[in-house]
Amino acid sequence: MFVDSHAHIDGEEFDRDRDAVIQRARDAGVSAILNIGTGDPHSGVLERALELAESHEGMYTAIGTHPHDARLFDDAAEKLILNLITQSSRIIAWGEIGLDFHYDNSPREVQIKVFRRQLQLAREANLPVVIHTREAEVETAEILKSDSHGLPGIMHCFSSSGRLAQQAIDLGFYISFSGIVTFKKAEELRTIAKQVPLNRLLIETDCPFLAPVPFRGKRNEPAYVVEVARCLAELHEKTVEEMGQITSENFANIFNLKLGE
Ligand SMILES: [Zn+2]
Ligand SMILES: [Zn+2]
Repeated sequence: MFVDSHAHIDGEEFDRDRDAVIQRARDAGVSAILNIGTGDPHSGVLERALELAESHEGMYTAIGTHPHDARLFDDAAEKLILNLITQSSRIIAWGEIGLDFHYDNSPREVQIKVFRRQLQLAREANLPVVIHTREAEVETAEILKSDSHGLPGIMHCFSSSGRLAQQAIDLGFYISFSGIVTFKKAEELRTIAKQVPLNRLLIETDCPFLAPVPFRGKRNEPAYVVEVARCLAELHEKTVEEMGQITSENFANIFNLKLGE
């Protein structure tokens, strides 16, 4: 049993064969997928992600505004998100939120403000958060430390330093690894992954990008999360099935879910 803790399969990359992709995930033993709707919150992306979750067994959604789109987050977006949350139990997380100083698609001060605001809203809504952070380690750590107040969360597609991993773990967060950890040059990341306690590990694809070895360069999809589990299993001297079980249980714990029923 495996869980893909972070996927983007509501997008147009999967319009042609979405159902086949979901079926392949099931055939590979992926029992749950957390899909994240991202983009302009006023464009219908959030509704689309929710509809996808509602119409498939084992599919969940996170809802929120990505740091790329922070400049588009306003009162109307906030109201829309809060309203959607009341409509469906398939919305299990607030995200992805955070800071991306690599692309700087939104001004940094806006990203910081919107990140803080969404952390507060997530706390009020009692939803764990999904954190995206890139080239903004110090700021991310500071904000999580001052604003998360015990709120559980996931550091998704983790590719930062061991220091940030430890800070997040100390705050009660889970560390989710993507296909990056399987890349040949990711020795340092594998060293970090080896040090993350088993009860804080998660696996994800972050598809359609970042396909793990041996699918690197192809369109990524949830079935390939098994390859991430295989890599972590080797590092922690477990079987791939054991790692699937461990990461699935962690996912169920953070979201209070009963999987595989
Ligand atoms: Zn992300
Ligand atoms: Zn994402």
